[in-house]
Amino acid sequence: MVVIGRRKSIGLFIAFGAGLISVILLLYVGGVFLNWRTGALLVLGVLLLAAVIAGVVLNTFFLVREIRRNEQHDAFINAVTHELKTPVASIRLYLETLQSRLVDDAQRAEFYRIMLEDSDRLLETIEQVLRTGRISPASRKPNRSQLDLGAVVEDCVAQARKLKQLPSEALTYQAGPPLVILADMDEVRAAVSNLIDNAVKYSGKDVRVGVETAVVDQKYASVRVHDHGPGIPKAELKHIFKRFHRVPGATARVPGTGLGLFIVRSVAKRHGGRAWAESDGMGQGSTFVLQLPIMR
Ligand code: ADP
Repeated sequence: MVVIGRRKSIGLFIAFGAGLISVILLLYVGGVFLNWRTGALLVLGVLLLAAVIAGVVLNTFFLVREIRRNEQHDAFINAVTHELKTPVASIRLYLETLQSRLVDDAQRAEFYRIMLEDSDRLLETIEQVLRTGRISPASRKPNRSQLDLGAVVEDCVAQARKLKQLPSEALTYQAGPPLVILADMDEVRAAVSNLIDNAVKYSGKDVRVGVETAVVDQKYASVRVHDHGPGIPKAELKHIFKRFHRVPGATARVPGTGLGLFIVRSVAKRHGGRAWAESDGMGQGSTFVLQLPIMR
């Protein structure tokens, strides 16, 4: 998909350049032909100048867009390669240790625990990449059924507590009224889990995450995920939902691929809903909101 998109814009680039050269040649030949008429020459000159300026502007626009895309792809390849290589290297190291020397039972149990964690991380990365492909506009429509959003959120909270071994006060859930939506269970689960996982992941050691569900304007079922983590700079709030985008600086050192929030917003849009982030800036924590239409 990405390669096709890139080829398309490069094709557009080349076609535009060729078109521009033809126009310039045409105007030039025409200009020479009509040389004796000063008025016609002036008009031709102005047209030529306008065409050249428009060409330069458009070329620069496409060039910048291509460079940005290349940068994003490089960042994505680096992040995914890192996210795939690190857990595999770690699992391999523990297996080699188990194979090469005798370890006591407690140590062996610890090695197994770490290897299981690494394989979960590996599966999570693979699942994020596959899901990004599944929710692209060209892919199948969501497989909708009647869902209780509150129950889905409660399940995601319970799963996150278990996987990250969090006490219930570190990750709280405040249930609102019953929220019936018509949605793809798998996609909604992925979106809610991504928000909870991010809130826990970026909080570091001090995990204080609150999840709430509510009805908004009698129209939307809303899920709010609030954390006391590092927060997000205001200028980044609208960019973090873009594919592969990661906020530079301290949070970029936390493992990730830049796909989670892209999946959240895509799922929201596919269901006629919306998703956004709020934060008063660095060090101020963040709140993420996912709203999906209530079933009538
Ligand atoms: P990933 O977490 O894999 O990098 P996401 O798409 O889930 O990708 O998030 C994009 C970026 O948004 C992250 O790299 C991070 O900089 C920022 N971000 C997301 N959630 C939070 C959060 N709860 N607190 C602070 N920053 C966040």
